[in-house]
Amino acid sequence: MKDILLALGIEEINKGTSTGNDWLDSSGDRLSSFSPVDGERIATLVETDEQSYGSVVDKARLAFGQWRLWPAPKRGEVLRQIGEALREKKEYLGKLVSYEMGKSLQEGYGEVQEMIDICDFALGLSRQLYGLTMHSERPAHRMYEQWHPLGIVGIISAFNFPVAVWSWNSMLAMVCGDVCIWKASEKTPLSALACQKIVAEVFLANDVPEGVCNLISGGRWLGERMAQDHRIALVSATGSTRMGKEVAATVGARLGKVLLELGGNNAIIISQHADLDIAVPAAVFGAVGTAGQRCTTTRRLIVHQRIYAEVKERLKKAYGQLRIGNPLDEHYHVGPLIDKEAVNAYEQAIANCLAEGGKLITDSGVLEGAAFSSGCYVKPCIMEALGTYATVQKETFAPILYLLSYTEFDEAIKIQNAVPQGLSSSVMTLNLREAEAFLSAAGSDCGIANVNIGTSGAEIGGAFGGEKETGGGRESGSDAWKNYMRRQTNTINYGSSLPLAQGIKFDL
Ligand code: NAD
Repeated sequence: MKDILLALGIEEINKGTSTGNDWLDSSGDRLSSFSPVDGERIATLVETDEQSYGSVVDKARLAFGQWRLWPAPKRGEVLRQIGEALREKKEYLGKLVSYEMGKSLQEGYGEVQEMIDICDFALGLSRQLYGLTMHSERPAHRMYEQWHPLGIVGIISAFNFPVAVWSWNSMLAMVCGDVCIWKASEKTPLSALACQKIVAEVFLANDVPEGVCNLISGGRWLGERMAQDHRIALVSATGSTRMGKEVAATVGARLGKVLLELGGNNAIIISQHADLDIAVPAAVFGAVGTAGQRCTTTRRLIVHQRIYAEVKERLKKAYGQLRIGNPLDEHYHVGPLIDKEAVNAYEQAIANCLAEGGKLITDSGVLEGAAFSSGCYVKPCIMEALGTYATVQKETFAPILYLLSYTEFDEAIKIQNAVPQGLSSSVMTLNLREAEAFLSAAGSDCGIANVNIGTSGAEIGGAFGGEKETGGGRESGSDAWKNYMRRQTNTINYGSSLPLAQGIKFDL
């Protein structure tokens, strides 16, 4: 790992607070990064403290005064160069993400590719931050709306996407003219450090003011600090629903803006009209990919009773072939969970589901032995259950797939929607009526609804996010950029009189 830290230029950085090229002193606690792959400590950083947090916010405010005046295409050009730098460092950053978070190497590279894609997207956006023009009801008047940056965007991110989710937020925010302060997950601080270093080098070469892209490091208290801070115009928070409710209450109390990307409880409906050669691999990848630690992981499979037995057998066979081991070795399908706490949550969820009447149809348990020395490797498992079980209603961030059955298609949609979360959903069917019913207003209530592909693996071009307890936010593609700007309506009178709207007379 030393050579990777060296290639990323962070082998000697032990400070977790940065305004760009400046790495700030702090008297904060020590924050160590442990790999779930082998339990090794990768490095230790000094956390941000109150004083260094204050310095970062001051610097960010000053930088905003300048950055918002840069023409958007010029900002886009700098972000294009970040994309180039990421292309050069993809292998190293992808490996660090994989080792620090425990996802497969392919997924680590995939995360960096997503960052590159969003840089390209932001470059395009830099010439497309369009506002509308309207016809005024008054003669010799012109009316239009334009979009201005908000100010400081605070980004709180989760461990499972240590770098990509930050880039979705920061590249869009920065192209819009905002400045960012990123509080990464305390479980993956090094990946964040590496991103900050890459951005800082590009910024230096382009004379971008210090304070446009900032990093702070620490746990929950630091996220809470940002949520309370009225100088942070928008808090974009990714993580558990518990966290999102707390952030929303705090930011709401000061009437600040929030963008929330929270937990999911995603289902695939497998109809009797499905192509099972597509449906089964999609379900398995969706359930075990990233060891069940994606917000879009498939957690529930709702299968038509006519094909239930066949699907169950195919799933058991597929699970029997899964290879669990070091995610940096491409031979393995499934890597570790993030930490022992996640392992406990996995064991507890299985026990709870069994107590509610559920049944395990595959092996489960924690793997032991030298290859699994971190204690974080678990067997992905499948449980037959009912959608109403309290365990099935909850998101457990682990590879547990609940198998449910239905008889009528309407009933399948009802089961799919009958959870508090509303992130991602899919239907597997070759029947046009079923597919369209699933996508209709009376169909899936999720932010993402797919046909004949699984619940995970979104592209950056679409708006990403979900409804209900998933928080309602939209990030990444489409017009998600509007979340990072404020809309201003302008009316200009170029005539020689002062007509009032609605024909109101006010003669002096
Ligand atoms: P978490 O909620 O424990 O932590 C996420 C981040 O929030 C961390 O940086 C943490 O320090 C911070 N935090 C925790 N409590 C806070 C508070 N009260 N105020 C401010 N900040 C606080 O989540 P996690 O375990 O890191 O990640 C897993 C969760 O994230 C899952 O629920 C998953 O579904 C969700 N997630 C959602 C999306 C999405 O786009 N919808 C994407 C990735 C992860």
